[in-house]
Amino acid sequence: MLDKSNELAAWDRDHFFHPSTHMGMHARGETPNRIMAGGEGVTVWDTDGRKSIDAFAGLYCVNVGYGRQKIADAIAGQAKELAYYHAYVGHGTDASIRLAKMIIDRAPQGMSRVYFGLSGSDANETNIKLIWYYNNVLGRPEKKKIISRWRGYHGSGVMTGSLTGLAAFHNAFDLPRAPILHTEAPYYFRREDRSLSQEQFSQYCADRLEELILAEGPDTVAAFIGEPVLGTGGIVPPPAGYWPKIQAVLDKYDILLVADEVVTGFGRLGSMFGSDHYGMRPDLITIAKGLTSAYAPLSGVVVGEKMWEGLVKGSDALGPIGHGWTYSAHPICAAAGVANLELIDELDLVTNAGEVGHWFRDALQQALGGHPNVGEVRGEGLLAAVEFVKDRDDRTFFDAADKIGPQVAAALAERGVLGRAMPQGDILGFAPPLCLTKEEADTIVAKTADAVKSVLG
Ligand code: PLP
Repeated sequence: MLDKSNELAAWDRDHFFHPSTHMGMHARGETPNRIMAGGEGVTVWDTDGRKSIDAFAGLYCVNVGYGRQKIADAIAGQAKELAYYHAYVGHGTDASIRLAKMIIDRAPQGMSRVYFGLSGSDANETNIKLIWYYNNVLGRPEKKKIISRWRGYHGSGVMTGSLTGLAAFHNAFDLPRAPILHTEAPYYFRREDRSLSQEQFSQYCADRLEELILAEGPDTVAAFIGEPVLGTGGIVPPPAGYWPKIQAVLDKYDILLVADEVVTGFGRLGSMFGSDHYGMRPDLITIAKGLTSAYAPLSGVVVGEKMWEGLVKGSDALGPIGHGWTYSAHPICAAAGVANLELIDELDLVTNAGEVGHWFRDALQQALGGHPNVGEVRGEGLLAAVEFVKDRDDRTFFDAADKIGPQVAAALAERGVLGRAMPQGDILGFAPPLCLTKEEADTIVAKTADAVKSVLG
C-alpha cells in the first residue's frame, strides 16, 4: 500500500541517516526527499505516482531493469526452501555453487575461484587482505603497497575509501591511509599538456606509474587497482593504448592487477567484462552491482589461477583462511544472481548494451556535441557522460560553487529523466538499464538537450 500522508516524509527527515546526502539540509527539509515505490523496465515511480526514466539504473546496478518476475520468483523460492545457511568450512547451496560456476564460465581466461561478499566495498577489502596474505605466503612481507588512481572509486570503507581517489570520500575521515598511493587518472580530456595524442597521454600515465613504483621501491609495491572505465570519478573511458601500457609496467615489476569491475562486469560496456574489452590480464576481479542487478546485495572477488595457488599454499601452512562474512554467498542473493545471469543471456542484454549504447552516445553527441558549454560527450557501451565547461575553446571549467552539473541533473529530473551529477566536476552521467531501447534512448537525449538549454541556454 502506498502511504500518501506526510508522515513518512517526516519520519525520513527525523530518523533516517542517508548515505551521500547533505545531512543538515535533509534534516531541516531544505532539500527535497523522494520516496520510491515501484518500477518496471527502465521506469521508476514514487509514492506521489510521479514516473521517471531511470537513466542511471539506480547506482548503475539495475542492469536487467525493474520488475523482473523471474528474479522475484527465484528469491521467493529460495527464501521458502532455505533462507540461509553459511558458507564456512565448505558449506554451499545449489544456488551459490551454481553461481560460482556461472561466473567463472563468463570471466576472462585464467580465473579460478569466486569469494562472495555483499558489496563492492567489502569485496575490495577482501582483495587487499588476499594480496597481503599472498605476499606473506610467498615470503615477501615488504611487498604491501597498493597503487590506485586519482578519481578511482573503489568503495567507502577505511581501506577501500583510501583506494578511492575522490576528495569528498577522504575529507575529515583521515583518509587515505597507508599503504595506499595514488597515481595519474587516465583522463584525456583534462590532460595538462593538450598537445599530447591519446597514445602519448597513455604513455605519460604509464611513465608516472613507473616513476612512483621506482620512488617507492618495486619490492614494496604489491598491486595496482583500476576500473576498466573510470566510473564515479567522471565516466571516463581510457585513452587509446592505456591498459596495455599499464600492464607492461606491472609485469616488469611483478605487481598484481586488480580490475574493479563492479560497474563494468556483466555487460555494461557491451562485453561481458571490461577486462576482455580492453585486453587487461587481471589477477583479481571485483564484481557486484550487475551480478544480481541489485535485486539482492551480492559481490564477489574472482581469483586468478596464480593467486589461487599461492592462497592454497598459505592454507596448507597456516590452516583455514581467517576471513569470512556471516552473509558470504547468502542463498537468497545467490539465487537472485543465478536468475539474473540467466536473464542477461536470455534477453541478449550484452549485445543490446553495445548496440543501443552506440546509438545513445551518437545521439547525445549530435544533440549536445556542438553546444558552447559542452566540453566532451564520452562513454563506452551503456555508460555515457556529458562534461560541461565555461569555455570550450580555452577548456576553462565552471566554479564548483556554480553547481552546473547538479543544476542540469535537477532540470533533467523535472523533465522525468534521472541522470547523475557525478561528484567531482560538472559531469552529467548516464548508465541506464541494459534493456534500454533506441526509442527510450532518444527520449533521454531529447530531455537532456532541453534540460541543458534551460540551464545554459
Ligand atoms: N567499485 C566500484 C568501481 C564502484 O563503482 C563501487 C560503487 O559504486 C564500489 C566499488 C563500491 O561498491 P558498494 O557501494 O557496493 O560498496
